[in-house]
Amino acid sequence: MTMHMLAPMPSYSIIKTNSFQMRSPTSIVDVDRLDSWTRYKPGMCDSCAANCCTMPVEVKMADLIRLELVDPFEAEHEEPKQIAKRLMKAGFIDHFNFKNSIFTLARRSSGDCQFLDAKERHCTVYAKRPTTCRTHPQVGPKPGFCPYGALAQSRAK
Ligand code: SF4
Repeated sequence: MTMHMLAPMPSYSIIKTNSFQMRSPTSIVDVDRLDSWTRYKPGMCDSCAANCCTMPVEVKMADLIRLELVDPFEAEHEEPKQIAKRLMKAGFIDHFNFKNSIFTLARRSSGDCQFLDAKERHCTVYAKRPTTCRTHPQVGPKPGFCPYGALAQSRAK
């Protein structure tokens, strides 16, 4: 499952991954199984193990600039594919879609986003997080639903 962002409104699609290897050890729901998702309610994130942060996140150049992975000058003067090459080499992105200039943020072997605090399950770049993360779960594979999994339960595993 991928958190896509395509202008003007983000959309989503499924990317086949090795879900066994990419599954976070604290995840207690299968993020790829939409029927296991929970209807989102305000406040839910406070007790969640951040399962949404184990899905691949697709971002645009503006997100990478906000995350300070790309300098605005570089974005203006360098070809996106060259920037993608640099970011991939540095381990910041996993994939670059040449056709629509969409980058996929790199994840750890656990499946966690590189910006997730693996223990506390908090985003370490929250103020600068990508648009895809900001619009989840209003926009997503199942709008209004998320792969909620209680933090206490996952820690007890
Ligand atoms: S950038 Fe932050 S909110 Fe977005 S997936 Fe990564 S840890 Fe989660």
